[in-house]
Amino acid sequence: AVFGRIDAVEGEIRAYITQTREQALEQAQKVDEKIRRGEKISPLAGLPGAIKDNICTKGIKTTCGSKILANFVPPYDATVMVKLAANDAVIAGKANMDEFAMGSSTENSAFFASRNPWDTAAVPGGSSGGSAAAVAAGEAVWALGSDTGGSIRQPAAYCGVVGLKPTYGLVSRFGLVAYASSLDQIGPITRDVTDCALVLNVIAGHDAHDSTSIRTDVPDYTTALVPDVKGLKIGLPKEYFVAGLDSAVEQAVRRAVDQFRAMGAEIVEVSMPHTEYALAVYYLIAPAEASSNLARYDGVGFGYRAEGNDIVSMYKRTRSEGFGAEVKRRIMLGTYALSSGYYDAYYNKALKVRTLVKRNFDRAFEQVDVLITPTAPTTAFKAGEKVNDPLAMYLQDIFTIPVNLAGVPAISLPCGFAGNLPIGLQLIGKPLGEATILRAAYAFE
Ligand code: GLN
Repeated sequence: AVFGRIDAVEGEIRAYITQTREQALEQAQKVDEKIRRGEKISPLAGLPGAIKDNICTKGIKTTCGSKILANFVPPYDATVMVKLAANDAVIAGKANMDEFAMGSSTENSAFFASRNPWDTAAVPGGSSGGSAAAVAAGEAVWALGSDTGGSIRQPAAYCGVVGLKPTYGLVSRFGLVAYASSLDQIGPITRDVTDCALVLNVIAGHDAHDSTSIRTDVPDYTTALVPDVKGLKIGLPKEYFVAGLDSAVEQAVRRAVDQFRAMGAEIVEVSMPHTEYALAVYYLIAPAEASSNLARYDGVGFGYRAEGNDIVSMYKRTRSEGFGAEVKRRIMLGTYALSSGYYDAYYNKALKVRTLVKRNFDRAFEQVDVLITPTAPTTAFKAGEKVNDPLAMYLQDIFTIPVNLAGVPAISLPCGFAGNLPIGLQLIGKPLGEATILRAAYAFE
């Protein structure tokens, strides 16, 4: 059925960089045999998912949406892929993305732009736009994305599906191509909250291959799915309802707040005064880390290599030809922020303000269990509208970025429509508070 949908709509949606149909059918066959033998199977067994193309898949091209990795075939699987395989999940293909996960519309892919299934003139969001579009269009039952500043939640919001960024360290980053290592997390994109919990069950947990992985017991997240929020304290951070927030989005989120109140939750207004600095802090820290992480693409170890008369000209031409404009912009920003003379003024200052942003969350969570905000300030915008305006593009992540800076978990789920385009609601939890935000999301949907 999923491949039928791909045949019907992929020409317009363009969610996949690589399809793995043959392997998928073989994998599904094995599940069939298990069922026939009466063996117990995982809830994900046989269900085709889309994997963002920055997650390493052994023997399957992993391009990161970049020309520089256009022919890169990893010799190993990311830890999440090993875990999915152990559950007999089926991989439908590798999903399109903004190059190196830098972007909010999937228009920064070096290969092609994906489109929003609700309106093909609109973007699906990004950078995990292919993953979100695939799930929304029925081209996958579930998907994995990665979220450094909103790249799971914002496309989930734009495509009317559920997306969860786990607590930093809950899901192994081993085999996730690094963008900004202190912010990156892999997470599920699914049609509903139950599917989200099922995928999280499989991918969460400590991994010795990732030094930032948390040693914690992983609960069965489906046990949190009770349709009840009585007594739950939900905080409404006033700094998230500001100029630039579309009025239809604000109304839908406020209606959601009323619905939570009607279900017995206690709504408390909270203040997070450093929210306004989060975007600036992110655009120093993320490019700084990226400039370091992307230094490895020099045409020597792997990936694209240009011709050159000597090694320096080979490096230069490889990187000039291999990286797209947004990636180059980030490398330059990051290199500048880290350079001697500017390090203290920019990078170090940003780290200090990051701590203040984190303390805003600590303080808020002394009063409440969950925070509620819009996921993005608007619904999906038109393709082409912001490609030449990086700042307008960056502003799409104003509500999702503070969450990555603080390392806390957050889920985006649909809360209505503006015209034919879905609106996303964000629920933010305490560190390792995934069960609580899943429960609130489940009660709401
Ligand atoms: N849009 C933000 C950026 O371009 C976030 C991307 C992400 O979460 N990977 O950096």
